[in-house]
Amino acid sequence: MTLADLGWNDTLIQAFAPHAAAGLEPARVVCELRRNFYAVHTADGEVLGECGGKFFHKNLTPDQFPAVGDWVAVKRRAGEQRADLHFVLPRRTKFSRRASGSEEIEQIIAANIDTVFLVSGLDRNFNPKRIQRFLVAAKESGAEAIVILNKSDVCEDAEEVRADIQTLVPGVPVFITSAHTRKGLKALAANYAQPGKTLAFIGSSGVGKSSLINALTRDDSMPTAEVREKDSKGRHTTTRRELVLTPSGALVIDTPGMRELQLWGVEDGVEEAFSDIKALAATCRFTNCGHSNEPGCAVLAALKDGTLAQERWNNYEKLRAEKLSKAKPLSKLPPSDNRTKWRKINAERDAWKKNAGL
Ligand code: GDP
Ligand code: ZN
Repeated sequence: MTLADLGWNDTLIQAFAPHAAAGLEPARVVCELRRNFYAVHTADGEVLGECGGKFFHKNLTPDQFPAVGDWVAVKRRAGEQRADLHFVLPRRTKFSRRASGSEEIEQIIAANIDTVFLVSGLDRNFNPKRIQRFLVAAKESGAEAIVILNKSDVCEDAEEVRADIQTLVPGVPVFITSAHTRKGLKALAANYAQPGKTLAFIGSSGVGKSSLINALTRDDSMPTAEVREKDSKGRHTTTRRELVLTPSGALVIDTPGMRELQLWGVEDGVEEAFSDIKALAATCRFTNCGHSNEPGCAVLAALKDGTLAQERWNNYEKLRAEKLSKAKPLSKLPPSDNRTKWRKINAERDAWKKNAGL
């Protein structure tokens, strides 16, 4: 596997230039073996990478430590299959979670994923709302999001469902697949599984993520998906590689963390995933329109004429309410001049409501 196979490209070469000048080598993180130890792939193959002193004295926050998919600058140890990790290159995209018990500490689950597939099963587990929530998380990550409706072999009106889902996620490609009959897999691979691209699958347990990954990576010539390592007591341990090259040349990141992806941190993602609603709401007559009964409300008008699906609006409101309930009360207050502005706007609205007898 060459660096190009792993997705090494001109942008990365540029970002890496200062490290190259300092005598470091690029490598991509294939999996985390244990705390501060990683399997990393360099131009000459896989080595054990360690975050040692060089890393720690920089006083880094958890999100600045390497994660699967990261590109790192390493210093090989002469005569050993080991390397010291010195730097993490800027991430193009990232999936992260908050450390338990802390709102502030971010941990990276996986980095530099190009395309994330949001998988649902067209069986009894089918849940359109969940698709929207996963979409928010995907947008937050920066990766391109694709919706997959899997298990089409057990659904008679898959096309109809697809059309319904498409109205809920305008602008997002929606694919129908079956990991069992391989329906739709060719189209999926042709569109997204290109050499050097990094893919990931998220979705609830049982929707067929493993089956799809297996179907896409099915090839006996694949290198073993395990990393062997000696633990601190000298015993051999094996760990599953979490970044795997598929026959098409695309890479798949599959980690427990991605599988258990929690839907926190949707702050900006909510707004982006629902950018059409935001744009619509911006055209309401009142700047602080509550979209409940105000005159000139563009949202109400769109709901009435059907250009905005009621369900999509409800989801937006729900996610926004969750986001607000998580917001910190004091630090999030607008600056005082802003507060004056809002007081004025609210007063205007109250006056209008009073006038209208509401
Ligand atoms: P994961 O938890 O998302 O990784 O789901 P799995 O890949 O483990 O699949 C869960 C179950 O669904 C298994 O019993 C699979 O055989 C089944 N399954 C996966 N894909 C399909 C499909 O396209 N059609 C049908 N009928 N079953 C599927
Ligand atoms: Zn409105």
